[in-house]
Amino acid sequence: SERLAGGFRKTSERLSDNLAGLGGATKLTLEQLDEIEDALIVSDLGPRAAARIRDKLAEHRFDGAADGQAIREQVAVEIAEILRPVAKPLEVTAFPRPQVILVIGVNGSGKTTTIAKMGHLFQEDDYEVMLAAGDTFRAAAIGQLKVWGERLGVPVVAGAEGGDPASIVFDAVKHATEIGTDALIVDTAGRLQNKRELMDELAKVRKVLGKLNPEAPHDVVLVLDATNGQNALSQIEVFKETAGVTGLVMTKLDGTARGGVLVAAAEQYGLPVHAIGVGEKMDDLRPFDPDLVARVIA
Ligand code: GDP
Repeated sequence: SERLAGGFRKTSERLSDNLAGLGGATKLTLEQLDEIEDALIVSDLGPRAAARIRDKLAEHRFDGAADGQAIREQVAVEIAEILRPVAKPLEVTAFPRPQVILVIGVNGSGKTTTIAKMGHLFQEDDYEVMLAAGDTFRAAAIGQLKVWGERLGVPVVAGAEGGDPASIVFDAVKHATEIGTDALIVDTAGRLQNKRELMDELAKVRKVLGKLNPEAPHDVVLVLDATNGQNALSQIEVFKETAGVTGLVMTKLDGTARGGVLVAAAEQYGLPVHAIGVGEKMDDLRPFDPDLVARVIA
């Protein structure tokens, strides 16, 4: 939580700056409400979440003076209300095994790192993990996944650059089934420039998976970079359409003032948030704690 607090502090400071000097009455004035709503929008919570929080605050009667501190505490309560329904850790429940988790996201979002971190979390719960290098478009992506696999001590199924992702996924599922792997985490290409190709590729992967196990993929996790602010929302839009996203992981919440976008995403899409990334290391993936995050944002 040290790491996380560090991450959201900038958002929080900005919000505090914007809220400083407010207060005095037990009910907020229209002017104060406007100012709070603006501050929330500036903090990347988006117009919908900001309006919802404004409405709640308008009804709220403060015990004593509604000073900056009291207002922030109430904002945190309302943010937590929005975040709580989407907090949902990724659990390994698939039967038969393996649980197949497709991980998608634009290049640079932290996809590969998140795969390694997820693998590490699963290992801590004593699950057997396997990785598959389904992003065959970038040689670097394959290499990077192999390096993480070595660090974790888990098998990585990979082919050559330019190979067929569907055939790698096929091999990986077969192998994972044979050796009784609990969780198979699959890296996929993140080319948003060519939506058609990306869709075709994912459709092919799904088809192969479906043949081996009609339940697979069990999860389609979209990795989003918090530093992209509102752009993260348009990525949800595109990937929902092209990939059937079932949940989110937001990365780089350390050292960004844009963590509020998580609230915007929760309000707008209601997709489960599995975890958050707060650094570059293996153990820098944290369970998503809505109350903690709400307190830190506000
Ligand atoms: P990919 O292209 O989506 O696979 O992205 P990578 O996993 O290679 O990550 C891109 C860069 O972001 C790397 O330098 C990572 O170390 C870094 N990164 C990933 N997740 C986080 C995070 O939560 N916090 C920080 N600060 N950096 C991260």
